[in-house]
Amino acid sequence: MPKLYLGLGSNLGDKKQNITNATIICGSLLGDIVSLSSLYETKPWGFESDSTFLNAAICIETNHSPHVCLEMTKAIEREMGRTQKSSDGVYHDRIIDIDILFYADEIVKTEELTVPHPLLAERDFVLKPLAEIAPDLVHPEKKVSVNEMLKNLEKKL
Ligand code: ADP
Ligand code: MG
Repeated sequence: MPKLYLGLGSNLGDKKQNITNATIICGSLLGDIVSLSSLYETKPWGFESDSTFLNAAICIETNHSPHVCLEMTKAIEREMGRTQKSSDGVYHDRIIDIDILFYADEIVKTEELTVPHPLLAERDFVLKPLAEIAPDLVHPEKKVSVNEMLKNLEKKL
């Protein structure tokens, strides 16, 4: 079964509970959770906010296509009360953000979905939790592993 890697983030309310709830709901709707990172406290990226984020990464074995996974993760965000979507690089505080990081070694490029996630290699809050559960996972276009992407990013920061 294809392995779906999700990045979870929350910077509003009971962040830990939000991540836990999202993990449980993602598992029940999308497939079996096969790994789960610890929680990372990070600063907001791309916008100013007083609230830090909690981030985590999970891996789910799923039977659903990437697009169905996106529809489901968006529905979970809505159900959990996320109201504002980011657009044109404008970011907001959020109860929950669920991003598709990888879907096996597939490359998807459509208007609504890009996989692997396009900003993956620039975001340490994505790469750190991901490196905990999938250090050797290789980016199908960049041909570098998650660990290598994290090391390259840390050199730049
Ligand atoms: P961000 O996560 O960058 O803050 P949003 O969660 O508001 O942004 O998502 C904006 C849009 O990005 C979503 O409506 C979705 O259609 C699109 N999108 C494209 N690729 C992905 C992906 N890999 N994972 C999640 N959303 C994606
Ligand atoms: Mg998102």
